[in-house]
Amino acid sequence: VPTERIRNISIIAHIDHGKSTLADRLLEITGTVSARDMKEQFMDSNEIERDRGITIKLNAARMNYTNPEDGLNYVIHLIDTPGHVDFTFEVSRSLEACEGALLVVDASQGVEAQTLANVYLALDANLELIPVLNKIDLPGAEPERVSREIEEVVGLDTSNAIRASAKAGVGISDILSGIIHYIPPPAGNTASPLRALIFDSYYDPYRGVIVYFRIVDGSLRKGEKIKFMVTGKDFIAEEIGVMTPDQQPVDVLGSGEIGYLIAGVKTVEDARVGDTITTSTKGAEEPLPGYQEAKPMLFAGLFPLDSDQYHQLKDSLEKLKLNDAALQFEVENSAAMGFGFRCGFLGLLHMEVVQERLEREYGLDIITTAPSVVYSVKPVKGEEFFLDNPADLPDATKREYISEPYCRLEIITPEEYVGTLMELAQSRRGEYKDMRYLVQGRTTLVYDLPLAELVNDFFDHLKSRTKGYASMEYTVTGYRQNDLVRLDVAINGENVDALSGIVHREKAYSVGKALVTKLKEIVPRAQFKIPIQAKIGAKIVASQQISALKKDVTAKCYGGDISRKKKLIQKQAAGKKRMKAIGKVSVPQEAFKAMLSIN
Ligand code: GDP
Ligand code: MG
Repeated sequence: VPTERIRNISIIAHIDHGKSTLADRLLEITGTVSARDMKEQFMDSNEIERDRGITIKLNAARMNYTNPEDGLNYVIHLIDTPGHVDFTFEVSRSLEACEGALLVVDASQGVEAQTLANVYLALDANLELIPVLNKIDLPGAEPERVSREIEEVVGLDTSNAIRASAKAGVGISDILSGIIHYIPPPAGNTASPLRALIFDSYYDPYRGVIVYFRIVDGSLRKGEKIKFMVTGKDFIAEEIGVMTPDQQPVDVLGSGEIGYLIAGVKTVEDARVGDTITTSTKGAEEPLPGYQEAKPMLFAGLFPLDSDQYHQLKDSLEKLKLNDAALQFEVENSAAMGFGFRCGFLGLLHMEVVQERLEREYGLDIITTAPSVVYSVKPVKGEEFFLDNPADLPDATKREYISEPYCRLEIITPEEYVGTLMELAQSRRGEYKDMRYLVQGRTTLVYDLPLAELVNDFFDHLKSRTKGYASMEYTVTGYRQNDLVRLDVAINGENVDALSGIVHREKAYSVGKALVTKLKEIVPRAQFKIPIQAKIGAKIVASQQISALKKDVTAKCYGGDISRKKKLIQKQAAGKKRMKAIGKVSVPQEAFKAMLSIN
């Protein structure tokens, strides 16, 4: 079809407001996917994503639509975006590949923090937005109130807002005609040299890396020699095609179109999201603007429970890396834990997903340490450096200063929870910035907060203190110096480097005390007393002792070989509880995460 009849759109929404359900309805009504083939939530294709009801990987589909008003065929490309702050850069690139977006807001809820964060990204990408008031089938739906909210909070004209129920299939054809009317067609220049934006790539074990792109200028032909401008690598476009949503090869794609490419690329690291594809000869001079390297924000140690699994863990991480350019890892040798890997993640969700894949898909048993943010340290001698492992922090006497990443946090909450949330933010070293009344009964709170405090189950507390009614978003803004110290833990007299954490000096005593108390609950008793200490340098700031098991406990096992029975019991217990032997003490997985839940 001619460029005037192409529309490139995305759907943005707060989690659970109905993005995936609406995407499914659009695919269905345009006959892109038949109702019979429609697995529930086609766009959330990964198993872990479906379990969690979130979208991690991007997806795209090409829909053919005959507009009843003019009887002409249109092509609508629908690009799905991951709905999580860990993947903001990917979201921004997939929005960049569009001219417009459907802004889906649950009409029984209203504007939430993620709605706003996504709107900001969409406005950065100059997108035309169509508000969709979803879930109007619900008895509690208040489309008028939510329309006003969108006008006041988002500053968006809602005169063209569409009332819909993605679930019941109401308003879907209005949405399609809205897309044709309000979203402009792509504006690229077909005669210019090729510039195509990579907005997603993934590794397929049979076909190698598959690259999803949007042609901004020029056109791309099958068999052409191409260059990825940021990585500087050359390839041959062996296969190009469109997503219907099955991949269907074509010979040429023109300006404004969205497609896939197979070019013998071996790892997604060579096909970075945000990179620009051009032709090797007579190519574009400048790549498209806005490329950013994926930068891990959190680091954690991953250790095989059984040291025999070290090589298997390494292989598995390498395989995951083929499909995940943001995942970083290098060998870590911990005195307490043995050999493992220090891994870098975009955020908590990214970390959990990697962990879960290693366990579910690769059958590994791993111990993960509490995640650490990336600190910046200026030693007395030498250059400032980044530090992602608390165990490596030089002594206070050997450094000039240490700084930590801060984020700007925006919370949207019903006003009755403002007090408790301010208390929460302050207890996390938050610095109050702003408070705005959004609409009647709802408030935005803005804080600057150390990222380290945010990743310590801040979100869980926010949800539980507000019965789930508050939402939040954050962006990392920069580094600040603070009086931070390393808190070490010794179990049975042995320093456990994997339990070290960096805390503010003023909190060191209370955190130390809470930590040893918690560890006392978690670490199982043994035949001997187990002292647990929290220390700053050589100074003990808190201690606890786990008393020894009484001897007669084993006497209760009668019949058969007692030691064999004991082993069996221990083995069963270890199966239920993942344990790591530290010296003579068995330390369960929860102990390494204990720091996370202390505040
Ligand atoms: P997403 O997180 O934005 O992708 O939201 P989903 O599409 O996964 O929907 C979240 C939940 O809301 C699911 O249980 C859907 O069945 C439900 N849902 C989505 N749209 C509607 C709707 O129009 N009406 C009602 N009643 N429920 C809906
Ligand atoms: Mg979804």
